[in-house]
Amino acid sequence: MATSGAALQLKELQRYYESFGAVRGVSLSLEPGQFLTLLGPSGSGKTTTLLMIAGFLEPSAGEILINQRPVTHIAAHKRDIGMVFQNYALFPHMTVTDNVAFPLKMRGIARKEAREQAQHFIEKVGLERFARRFPAQLSGGQQQRVALARALVFSPSLVLMDEPLGALDRRLRLQMQEEIKKLQVDLGLTVVYVTHDQEEALTMSDRVAVMENGLIASFGPPKQIYEAPDNRFVAGFIGESNFIQCQVRQQDQNYALAAVGDCGDVRVLMRQSAQAGASASDDSVIFVRPERLHLCTPDDHYHNKLSASVVGEIYLGDATLFRVRLADGQEVRVKRPNRGIGAPLHPGDHCFVGWQTDDGVLLRH
Ligand code: ATP
Repeated sequence: MATSGAALQLKELQRYYESFGAVRGVSLSLEPGQFLTLLGPSGSGKTTTLLMIAGFLEPSAGEILINQRPVTHIAAHKRDIGMVFQNYALFPHMTVTDNVAFPLKMRGIARKEAREQAQHFIEKVGLERFARRFPAQLSGGQQQRVALARALVFSPSLVLMDEPLGALDRRLRLQMQEEIKKLQVDLGLTVVYVTHDQEEALTMSDRVAVMENGLIASFGPPKQIYEAPDNRFVAGFIGESNFIQCQVRQQDQNYALAAVGDCGDVRVLMRQSAQAGASASDDSVIFVRPERLHLCTPDDHYHNKLSASVVGEIYLGDATLFRVRLADGQEVRVKRPNRGIGAPLHPGDHCFVGWQTDDGVLLRH
């Protein structure tokens, strides 16, 4: 883990409520200008972690450093952090300009300069026409833009966002995701973002920390988290997944040969971290994404091919998700683009399920 020049470091951060560990030892390091998302199911400790970074919640143990400065016991307002919440938390009696200028006034900046600086950020979030309005006269998306401008106006070292787009409809959410990402890159902001929306985490982040029961289950770039998850929890939590039960017959450092019931043997990738629980003849699972499985014929050139029959299909617009039963009774999902390739298939049809060796990964239970 690189730590020199880190914008944020958490060292074994913990928060206990009596004997219950909401956060049980979180360590991570973030470089300046990186966008980190804390992703995880409800109750996994995302908000608790964020509140400790913000200084609103005292850790039970551990250390927090911002730009290498220990801040664990420093008051929230002295940490140089901008915050955006889901519920905007704007001052209802102040105009947009006054809301955005507020943090500057609190820092003793003269009124004229504060208003000019506020104006600059109001333009950055595209609200120049609304500068004189009050929050109640704005839509949800516009209010969230005001909250964003207010969090950024004093050029904080770190920006924390807790489900900032949770209250917006899908279209606006996607638009705001793009805008936040652009601002983050343009201004070189270091951001810690909390969401339980995996798509949002994958599209916006430089690093994703997947949390489970108060711990980080996996930490890495989105592509690594999605394509090469370390463990079954992460593989199952992000995206659609198939877990095919198998028995390992042989393995070397990189590959394993595994039997899928009496359907035949397949060759799959071994991961360093996945090896521990998968010694020869152990029951294990093969993890493979539905879009990496193919409905094929015996003549098609996939490394692995298993005989199967179609059980059901769900139309998704750009693709169809097929439920397919392997000859040993296990069901898998196969996502096939609707580009007119391949013969039409319907429930009851016989087919083969094929995939390339490197698209299937052996994971422990
Ligand atoms: P969500 O996505 O639902 O917001 P989260 O991942 O942000 O969830 P946290 O809010 O961090 O989860 O909560 C983590 C755990 O700590 C939960 O089980 C929660 O019930 C518990 N918890 C939070 N605050 C307290 C408290 N004041 N007293 C006792 N338990 C608490």
